[in-house]
Amino acid sequence: MDRRDEAFAFADEIGPAKVIHVYEPSIELRGTLVVDNVAAGPSIGGTRMAPDVSTEECFRLARSMTMKNAAAGLPHGGGKSVLYGDPAMPTERKEELIRGFAYALRNETDYIFGPDMGTDENCMAWVRDEIGRAVGLPRELGGIPLDELGATGYGLRYAAEVAADHLGFELAGARVVVQGFGAVGMHAARFLAEQGCSIVAASDSRGGVASRQGLDVAALIAHKRAGQALKDFSGGEPIAGDEMLALECEIWIPAARPDVIDDDNADRLRARAVVPGANIPMTTGAEKTLHARGILCVPDFIANAGGVICAAMEYHGATQRGAFDAIEERIRDNTRAVLDAVQRNQELPSEAARELALQRVRSAMKSRRWSIY
Ligand code: NAD
Repeated sequence: MDRRDEAFAFADEIGPAKVIHVYEPSIELRGTLVVDNVAAGPSIGGTRMAPDVSTEECFRLARSMTMKNAAAGLPHGGGKSVLYGDPAMPTERKEELIRGFAYALRNETDYIFGPDMGTDENCMAWVRDEIGRAVGLPRELGGIPLDELGATGYGLRYAAEVAADHLGFELAGARVVVQGFGAVGMHAARFLAEQGCSIVAASDSRGGVASRQGLDVAALIAHKRAGQALKDFSGGEPIAGDEMLALECEIWIPAARPDVIDDDNADRLRARAVVPGANIPMTTGAEKTLHARGILCVPDFIANAGGVICAAMEYHGATQRGAFDAIEERIRDNTRAVLDAVQRNQELPSEAARELALQRVRSAMKSRRWSIY
């Protein structure tokens, strides 16, 4: 590969529009920004801080934001930034790096900073102070605390409702299994329980708890918030993490790690629908197996877009109520559009979702003088 090809190794019809490496020796700052495609509007995507990030990871994350933002129908393209460093470093050092990174990118108005792994609302407050362009801000600065309120879990409730309707069952009385009980899983369980679902099992990294009668979700959340492991919850029976997959239920919600349903275990799943909170919760082979078995897999970036919709609404000055109404409307409409396309074209849901997102990106590109800007 000659050096020119190397520099454009990721280039295709969509992007990336810009790859910017930031270096400031006085504070040992090293970071990268990838602005993938901004035909629909300035890109929104988080800043990830980790010792082992890379340009390739940054590009892949930026592309998935292009797809997610387009699928959600937001007037925003996709971008992402990565900062090399241990996120557990002392606060003063972290502030120096985040401020330096933001300042170096102060003129890159095609990119709006957001929180991601290793960064949080305080980091976004520093970015906002430096350059005025960030989402995921603290409440005092006009932020809508999406993890605290459960924006992504709120969206999952509507994706689950459309999936249930598509399959011909009601949410009331449906049995739900939730793997991962953090910002996404806990609130998904809460919102679905409010609709009359019976949360028959939930797990965290230390194991799970199950109950045929349904878990008391409010009590389980209080237990988790008190720092206890779910498996020690007295309102159910402990269950090993890998047994969660084989529990009979209507809706199975992965809300922890990528690739938890793979080619080896996909035939053990006994659900009617998978509604993912986690990103990339299943391999392509697993999705094909589940599809062949008649199990509906709502695509991850359709179901779990509640967080980014909330962030975009915050950026445009919406209230909390306005943001949650937008999540409801968009996730409902987009899930329905994808499931209709699946039925019409007899294709995998992930293919239908990808096509929906690509169509929106391409049509935004047609309206621009330069295609991806
Ligand atoms: P979190 O850190 O708040 O919670 C993760 C939970 O998963 C924790 O309860 C943890 O104990 C549990 N967990 C970890 N490994 C597990 C395992 N092997 N088995 C069972 N549980 C396990 O994270 P989060 O914000 O809830 O995000 C969960 C997933 O959803 C991630 O993949 C994230 O990328 C994705 N996601 C999050 C958002 C958001 O708004 N926070 C939006 C879209 C996608």
